[in-house]
Amino acid sequence: PKKLGLVIDLDVCVGCHACVVNCKEWNTGGYGAALSDQEPYGETPSGTFLNRIHTFEVLPEANGAGASPMVVHFPKSCLHCADAPCVTVCPTGASYKRAEDGIVLVNEDWCIGCGLCAWACPYGARELDEAEGVMKKCTLCVDRIYNENLEEVDRVPACVRTCPTNARHFGDLADPDSAVSRLVAARGGVDLMPEQGTAPVNKYLPPRRNRAPAGAADETPP
Ligand code: SF4
Ligand code: SF4
Ligand code: SF4
Repeated sequence: PKKLGLVIDLDVCVGCHACVVNCKEWNTGGYGAALSDQEPYGETPSGTFLNRIHTFEVLPEANGAGASPMVVHFPKSCLHCADAPCVTVCPTGASYKRAEDGIVLVNEDWCIGCGLCAWACPYGARELDEAEGVMKKCTLCVDRIYNENLEEVDRVPACVRTCPTNARHFGDLADPDSAVSRLVAARGGVDLMPEQGTAPVNKYLPPRRNRAPAGAADETPP
C-alpha cells in the first residue's frame, strides 16, 4: 500500500507562513469550496490551525566551532504516523489510519472531543474545535488529492502548492523510486523524534550547517 505524506525541507523554509494561510484557506471552505470536487473535509474554526510554523534560534556553539547564529523555521502538521498513538487511544474509533494510503483521519461523526488523541500525539498535531466538540488535524488535503469518485488526481496539498521556496514536497514514501523517496535518500531525510516509536510517514530534510563562517559577512559589500 501507499504511504502518502510530506517531505519538508528545513534548509529552505523561510518561515513565511504561506503554507499556514493556504492550509487555513483550503480548510475553511474558502477557495477550497470553490475549487474542490468535494465538500471541504472539515472546517477549521477561528484559532484552529492544522499547520503551524515554529521558529528557533540555533546557538553558534550548537552548530559547530566558529559557526554563525542560525534561525530554523519548523513547519509542523500531522506526520501521518505508521504506528499512530492517536489512533490507539481513541475510545470511539473516530481516529483511524487508512489502509490504502496511510492517511490518518478523524471521523467527526464518531469523535466525542475527549482530547485523548491530542494528549497521546507527541507532536502536538491535533487541535480541538471547541465549538463543535470534535478534534481536527491535517487531512493531507484528502479532498484535493482525490476527486469525488475517490480517484487520485494530479493535485498536491494546498500547503505544497503555495510554498514559494519549494520547501514542501508531496508523494508516496512507500515507493523507493518516487521523487520524495529519492529526495529523502539524497538529503538524509529524518523522522521527527524517532524515539517516540511512531514511525512518522512525513520526513524532514535537515538544515545544512553553517553556510558561512563567522565574520564572512564582513567581507560582503552592503
Ligand atoms: Fe496521530 Fe500525532 Fe502521529 Fe498525526 S502526528 S498520526 S495526530 S500521533
Ligand atoms: Fe493543511 Fe492540507 Fe497541508 Fe495538511 S496537507 S497541512 S491539511 S494544507
Ligand atoms: Fe516555509 Fe514554505 Fe511554509 Fe513558507 S510556505 S513557511 S517557506 S514551508
